[in-house]
Amino acid sequence: MLIYDTLSRRKREFVPLRQGEVRMYTCGPSVYSTPHIGNFRTYVVEDVVKRVLLFNGYRVTHVMNITDVEDKMVREARGSRRRLREIAAKNERYFKECSRRLNLIPADHYPRASENIEAMVALIKRLMDRGLAYRDEAGNIFFDVSRFRRYGMLSHYRFRRGLEGRIYRDDYSQGEAGDFILWKAWRRSDGDIYWDTELGRGRPGWHIECSAMSIRYLGIPFDIHMGGIDNIFSHHENEIAQSAGATGKIPARYWMHVRHLMVNRRKMSKSLGRSYTVEELRRRGFSYRVIRAYLLSQHYRRRLNFTFPGLRRKAREVQRCQDLIRRLRRVKGAVDSEAADRAIDRALSDFTFHVNNDIDIPAALDTLCSLVRRLDQLERRGKLGPGNASRALQAIRRMDSVLGIIF
Ligand SMILES: [Zn+2]
Repeated sequence: MLIYDTLSRRKREFVPLRQGEVRMYTCGPSVYSTPHIGNFRTYVVEDVVKRVLLFNGYRVTHVMNITDVEDKMVREARGSRRRLREIAAKNERYFKECSRRLNLIPADHYPRASENIEAMVALIKRLMDRGLAYRDEAGNIFFDVSRFRRYGMLSHYRFRRGLEGRIYRDDYSQGEAGDFILWKAWRRSDGDIYWDTELGRGRPGWHIECSAMSIRYLGIPFDIHMGGIDNIFSHHENEIAQSAGATGKIPARYWMHVRHLMVNRRKMSKSLGRSYTVEELRRRGFSYRVIRAYLLSQHYRRRLNFTFPGLRRKAREVQRCQDLIRRLRRVKGAVDSEAADRAIDRALSDFTFHVNNDIDIPAALDTLCSLVRRLDQLERRGKLGPGNASRALQAIRRMDSVLGIIF
């Protein structure tokens, strides 16, 4: 199985750290609002990666965090802990419900940031002991990037100017890079959203949350770390600096990133007012399976440009494929043919090649659809017997264990 690794910038043969077993961490939703379908493109791809691993016979342990403490959450809750809990609970419920409807296999653990504060504090203390973090006059704690020589190793970014700035915000771009925040000392705008810890009164920065939770639930190193492409910098770059700074180990062996879903050639984004939710598409008559199929219709390392005609085309394709598969169940009379069995075997082997070639789902989906069309032709010519049809259904079920669209 080959996967493209952002860290080494090439396709690499996948070899797990422990034989037969894969540990993966995927950055979950910030539950300050409801996720849009651009967010779900990433989650659906992550689900398919997990399914390909299962298809290959691995046991998979999957951890997806729930970000319920970060700047946007605190702002949305207007400094009220009670309101924060309500907003987080409501959006987490919605996220899990959509995930279920979109046929995502649940993660093994969904750790919440708010329930892992101690692990974050311990990690920050370790970074301070190692001289990689320092406190400012206000009591905030920053990671000193000048002390981590390989800073930039994931984004492969050459920092033009020095990195002497300090960034208090959780999310920022490469151009603003500098020492980033680990611990935010309490401010009036935080209201009663704070924890009293050995580091003082305050709350964790966003990046330390994923370092602490991935180490706690998967150990270090683990196999695969995934997220959207905008996580490469700053989130994952900082996660590597923190985890490696504290333990001496790069947290994951393979780093996979999913490209954006675009609308009118620009990134789908809630803050920019260009986003659709799963519910909106449902109201317009698109089924969950069509939405899922559509989000998988472009290779994950390419942008997918969202359009309604594209979505409608996908809906027709899925419908046609399903109709043909339904007919396979009713095949009787004709005798089995070798031609049909050959087509089935070849399709299954092509399918395996494609999914193992850096998760090439569009090609895999094509293989499935052309098998179904071929079987349909054979049936019309009386060359598809009941034995063929039952073998075909078995093969299609196996393929759909990866795609999660048909059954
Ligand atoms: Zn994360």
